[in-house]
Amino acid sequence: MGIQTWVERTQMPGQVVEPQVAKAEAVEPLPEAIPEPRADDIPPWLDDVPPPTQEWEPAVDLYEPENDHRDDVARLDWAGLRDRVKHCEGCDLCKSRKQTVFGVGNQSADIMIIGEAPGVEEDRQGEPFVGRAGQLLTAMLLAMGLQREEVFIANILKCRPPGNRDPRPEEALRCEPFLRRQVKLVKPKVILAVGRVAAQNLLKSQEAVGRMRGKAFRFDDIPTVVTYHPAYLLRSPQHKSRAWKDLQRTLGVLRK
Ligand code: SF4
Repeated sequence: MGIQTWVERTQMPGQVVEPQVAKAEAVEPLPEAIPEPRADDIPPWLDDVPPPTQEWEPAVDLYEPENDHRDDVARLDWAGLRDRVKHCEGCDLCKSRKQTVFGVGNQSADIMIIGEAPGVEEDRQGEPFVGRAGQLLTAMLLAMGLQREEVFIANILKCRPPGNRDPRPEEALRCEPFLRRQVKLVKPKVILAVGRVAAQNLLKSQEAVGRMRGKAFRFDDIPTVVTYHPAYLLRSPQHKSRAWKDLQRTLGVLRK
């Protein structure tokens, strides 16, 4: 048992390398400049991923305000929104939750991280991305030169689905106004959707994460990058290099 340190193993020729200072553990030096890979530089493991597109595609928006009986959510401030989530009984998950998991971080962050739903530890602690997956997410952020407190982290659902099952469509639809309001209040420059559930619900897509990576999406007109969930990377560490490309791309959006 131990914290899995985020380690970038690939390095482009000619890149300047500077050490990144991690809070808990040192991480390997990372490139300062983040160039887009040239076509002939794309390593074999990117072959199954569509190349980045030039245009950012809007998500197919299936949100129907008339189905949302909490349409005043769109006018709430942070305190009102937090209180509304805390007492929400919008779906059956309110019956089994220990507590709601609102979200955490910088309310004016440039980057917003969106995951799927609280797990058992998140349900217990009331904070998203705790446990080993959360530690890896923190390491990923450190590798980007960011402290966890600098970003805002939220989930598609604010309550834990029993048995850590996937969110049901009606649950995601009921909870969506809260996330939309959080996005509106944070006004991030880029959204990083981590994992299949987050990406598919956010972007109204049925595609696998591997197919969505590298594509340019927009959620609520905000550039949105899709990458793997840290829990998946813990199980499949060989894909960390792919995720690192996604993180580089996220930083690239910030620099535009
Ligand atoms: S998951 Fe969302 S909609 Fe369902 S009870 Fe929790 S806060 Fe309300």
